[in-house]
Amino acid sequence: MQSTTSAECGMPATIGRAVTNAAARLGERLEAELLLAHALERDRAWLYAHAGDPIEAERWRACLELVRQRQCGRPVAYLLGQREFYGREFEVGDGVLIPRPETELLIDIALQLPLPEQARVVDVGTGSGCIALTLALERPGWQVMATDISAEALAIAHRNRKWLGADAVELLRGNLLEPLVNIHPDLVISNPPYVAEGDPHLARGDVRFEPQTALVAGSDGLDVIRELVQQSARALAAGGCLLIEHGHDQAGEVRHLLQAADFHAIASHRDLAGIERVTLGRRT
Ligand code: GLN
Repeated sequence: MQSTTSAECGMPATIGRAVTNAAARLGERLEAELLLAHALERDRAWLYAHAGDPIEAERWRACLELVRQRQCGRPVAYLLGQREFYGREFEVGDGVLIPRPETELLIDIALQLPLPEQARVVDVGTGSGCIALTLALERPGWQVMATDISAEALAIAHRNRKWLGADAVELLRGNLLEPLVNIHPDLVISNPPYVAEGDPHLARGDVRFEPQTALVAGSDGLDVIRELVQQSARALAAGGCLLIEHGHDQAGEVRHLLQAADFHAIASHRDLAGIERVTLGRRT
């Protein structure tokens, strides 16, 4: 009797056929390429240059396992273990929110603020560290600190700090600004949890797999922002800024919270989709 050939097992013979096969399973070519490239420890361009090469059975099995998890909804960023943010690769995993393009707006605005050369900056709820580490790398003069209540998140932030060589960034465990003792920052920046409990959005797409503590903040989604505004009002240096990302319908509410806490020069900024996504206030 003849031994079973790989073709009989439904295994694609070449890299090119493996792409087609995975794409058919996912109904999505880009994701198929990303997952196959990951299983092969190559990049997408390599797949094109080697489309006629045979594929090893073990690699194809690894790819199929990634495809299976993707079919169950697991985010591509978690399957790849990384996501690009502001032009740099960050490790991501179950314990952290996946960096999103709209959060790059927070970076753009922070970089334009009239801050001192050696500004003290705190990223609250840093997660993967994407905001704090990006700011430190874009502005080497700034003294950047980052806090997070989650030990799991901080472990990932530590690895990203090392990988990106942003050694000077201080990573502190604790709630919001509480780990800071006698420090009066010039900028508090945050992408805090801001989704309301029970928001139907939480039952769809990538967010189903992301940590609830990084997403959800009470019945109106503003619990953490309310606390952050209070703590920042006490901690910020004179003239210091608070810059917060928030939900698509929260800008008015966040401006009110800042007004009530005596911030001035309050302004909201729109993201690329035209949604007021980030709000800024200054201490007198
Ligand atoms: N922007 C995210 C979302 O809509 C929420 C992120 C957050 O709560 N900070 O899923």
